[in-house]
Amino acid sequence: MDIYKLIRKNILGLEPYSTARDEYGGQVGIFLDANESPFDNGFNRYPDPAQKSLKGKVAAIKGVPVENIFIGNGSDEAIDLCYRIFCEPRVNNAVAMAPTYGMYGVAAGINDVEFRQVLLNEDFSLDTGKLLSKCDAGTRLIFLCSPNNPSARALPNSQVEDILQKFEGIVVLDEAYIDFSSVPSMLPELDRYPNLIILQTFSKAWGAAGLRLGMAFASRQIIGYFSKVKYPYNVDVVSMRAADAALSADVAAKVRITLSERARVSDALSAIPGLFVYPSDANFLLVKVPDADVMYGKLLERGIIVRNRSNMPGCAGCLRVTIGTPAENDALLAAFAGILGSGGTVPEAEGLPAGFSRWAEVRRKTGETDVYVRICLDGGFESSSDTGLKFFDHMLDQIPRHSGVALKVKAAGDLDVDEHHTVEDVGIALGEAIGKALGDKRGIERYGFVLPMDDCEASVLMDLGGRIDFEWDVPFTREYLGDVPTEMFRHFFKSMCEAMKCNLHVKASGENNHHLAESVFKAFAKALRAAVRRDAWNYDVPSSKGTL
Ligand code: PMP
Repeated sequence: MDIYKLIRKNILGLEPYSTARDEYGGQVGIFLDANESPFDNGFNRYPDPAQKSLKGKVAAIKGVPVENIFIGNGSDEAIDLCYRIFCEPRVNNAVAMAPTYGMYGVAAGINDVEFRQVLLNEDFSLDTGKLLSKCDAGTRLIFLCSPNNPSARALPNSQVEDILQKFEGIVVLDEAYIDFSSVPSMLPELDRYPNLIILQTFSKAWGAAGLRLGMAFASRQIIGYFSKVKYPYNVDVVSMRAADAALSADVAAKVRITLSERARVSDALSAIPGLFVYPSDANFLLVKVPDADVMYGKLLERGIIVRNRSNMPGCAGCLRVTIGTPAENDALLAAFAGILGSGGTVPEAEGLPAGFSRWAEVRRKTGETDVYVRICLDGGFESSSDTGLKFFDHMLDQIPRHSGVALKVKAAGDLDVDEHHTVEDVGIALGEAIGKALGDKRGIERYGFVLPMDDCEASVLMDLGGRIDFEWDVPFTREYLGDVPTEMFRHFFKSMCEAMKCNLHVKASGENNHHLAESVFKAFAKALRAAVRRDAWNYDVPSSKGTL
């Protein structure tokens, strides 16, 4: 590959500025060549424009020869230089993924270079074919960010290599977060690809964002052009001196802490219903929340500042959260739990873990019964049923077991009169509780589904859309099952359906009456599980009306 063909003509022929330090590189003598102040204050002299000492240390740490290293004012400088060296304004273009780090596009805009983006897949993986099809004869740069900001996902190196082999321009691989990644750096492959530029930075794992020190690694020729085009004294003496200290710090120990904290925070946030945490190869987490603007504001009220990324492509509802110190992470977790926990239908009670929002309690007291129902659609407490009717309890137990909801039912009814009131009122209270716990129904799947069971076939079709329709076709041949009259099952489901405001179509057939009843409760549980489940990718209300 002829790299020279990719370099802008004005840059190829550029005669770089020659500094006083370029012309005389010795360390001792009386320096009267650079019009500096002679009075020593620690920074009265210009810095070494070639950053030899710092590059020597970086070379030793990274295992890359000095002539393959560029050091700049953050990796942002290197990004800008890529455009200035390779892209003719209004002629060439650059291609990147979306979402990705914003400076690739901003630097393109500043340099008047067309910037094209390819949307990543839903799981933030990259489709190589899609990326390459965005490229044409004018494409000089492809920016790959791995691990990517803000998705936190790393590209497999095999995919990067595939792109390097197929693309006839420059591939800029931004490895700003590589120290936190399970995918290894591509640095050892640098020699094999003349069109590869790898960016790294001291701003992340090295803990030196304030120094503004970024690195680019590439072939000698490319680094030669970086050195030609950069400002002569692009890294100052104070930063270079501080970099010495930063480079001797125990970075690996800090990275280990960040990685274990990342796992801890990710697990804790994932356990909070309504939150979805994307896998991370970086020192931050991308977290999908029910309402990013509201959550951002509530975290801010608690003094915690995160980055709202919900307007970036593919990131609807997402906040980007940097992993802090263990104490800062504790504060973050407490804030999330507090916000989502206190936003629920009832205050924290009876040992329900903080952070659950889709739960409700209903107390229904009449002259005939006293029913208490407590439900959490996302689990979270031990379920139990105690209605005084053994067979009914057995049936109610099927609901939490097969739906994943947590359900507590306690009923004291006039069983001395009949089973009717107890079964009916449990149905009503349970329906009300489910409706309440569903809240605004954001993100729910809405529909249930059909399934076969044992010798019976039970289908329970459910739509939580808000309209009531009840159909029942379950031919019992016995009058009683245990202590419950079989006619009461229809009445239970009808009462619940009306209180819950849903469509419920129940159909079952089979020989054994016990199985028949049980299969209906199990199918109901499965349908409920499917219908109340939240889709982590979508927090809209599942209706074209926008409300349910
Ligand atoms: N690349 C990526 C992917 C980043 O996220 C950032 C900072 N947010 C940078 C580069 C910038 O690094 P620097 O501080 O070295 O300019």
